[in-house]
Amino acid sequence: MINIQVWHYDGRNANKWQPQLFGDSHGFRLIGDGWEAGPYSWADLQALDNAGSDRVFGHQYEPGWRIGFAGEIPADVAALLPQRQRYGGFIDRIGLWRASAVLACVAALVVFIGVKAPGWIAPFVPQSWEDNMGDAMVGDFGGRYCHTKDGDAALKALTAKLDPEGHARSIEVANIRMVNAIALPGRRIIIFTDLIEKAESPDEVAGVLGHELGHVEHRDTLTAMMRQLGLSVILGGMDGTGGSQINALLGLSFSREAEHQADLTALDKMKAANISPTGTAAFFRRMDKSLWGTSEDGKGKKAEDKVQGEQIRDLTSWFASHPSSKSRYELFENAAVKGHEYAPALTPAQWDALRGMCVDDRDVKSDFGFGF
Ligand SMILES: [Zn+2]
Repeated sequence: MINIQVWHYDGRNANKWQPQLFGDSHGFRLIGDGWEAGPYSWADLQALDNAGSDRVFGHQYEPGWRIGFAGEIPADVAALLPQRQRYGGFIDRIGLWRASAVLACVAALVVFIGVKAPGWIAPFVPQSWEDNMGDAMVGDFGGRYCHTKDGDAALKALTAKLDPEGHARSIEVANIRMVNAIALPGRRIIIFTDLIEKAESPDEVAGVLGHELGHVEHRDTLTAMMRQLGLSVILGGMDGTGGSQINALLGLSFSREAEHQADLTALDKMKAANISPTGTAAFFRRMDKSLWGTSEDGKGKKAEDKVQGEQIRDLTSWFASHPSSKSRYELFENAAVKGHEYAPALTPAQWDALRGMCVDDRDVKSDFGFGF
């Protein structure tokens, strides 16, 4: 049980309250003199800049909401609070070089005892290691990135809206006939050409891209690689480049919680860019139907009912690794603010350029030879 005094702004007026924070490992309430607020989830807190020596946190869905801790924060509370991100909490606390040394020891130990690295090591891996490993694994993707002048400009415009802070090092469209998009190690995102083809508006692509940006920001790819492929991944990288790795990367799966967090990040990004989430909801709903032939409850017919050829293609789909469900598309539907004027993610001309980029790029290699 946690019980600690904090100061608090509720975002609605300028009063600085002095409530007690009561909670446990799941969440907390604020209880002041004659008032009570919450429950709040620790996961919704965001570390902000300190105010003097006070540690300050905001709430991701409540603008202006703040709590601050005067003085030392007890360890059990500190463990629940988000860290201010630079390299990640642990490294920020003990410094990059010391963290690298600690990591090397942990890595050696894990190799020594011959187990796969648990996912919790991922946040401690310096970003530069992951970037180098990703570059070595993926390279230029075997020349399969599509480029045209107008297509590149359109993709850049979409990227600027959804990732203004530049969390992703690159976002590319690849000439691979799959309805898919993936976050690669090293903060790179690839959207496969058929995903853009299946989307009916740029808003729909924005939702998927926002989701993949969530995986990049949360370092989910590295976590999944370490959990599923083992620590060899960060020690030696993997052999080969481009296509030979893609099957392994497409086979990575993230936890349900990581997927949900990526959806929430997508919604935040779309909100900040004034892009309606309605299109994404419609895309999820449509693909859910076409993939599994479902009814509204998201269960529907079994995959065996489908013709085999279609099934094989389906299993490489983003929607096979990200099953749509009623709760999932309702999350996006309900996030739309009624009566609010959203702007389309791209102009019609930009959307055309994005859609045409792999057809119009005459030099791009095709997906032939990938061995799917
Ligand atoms: Zn995902």
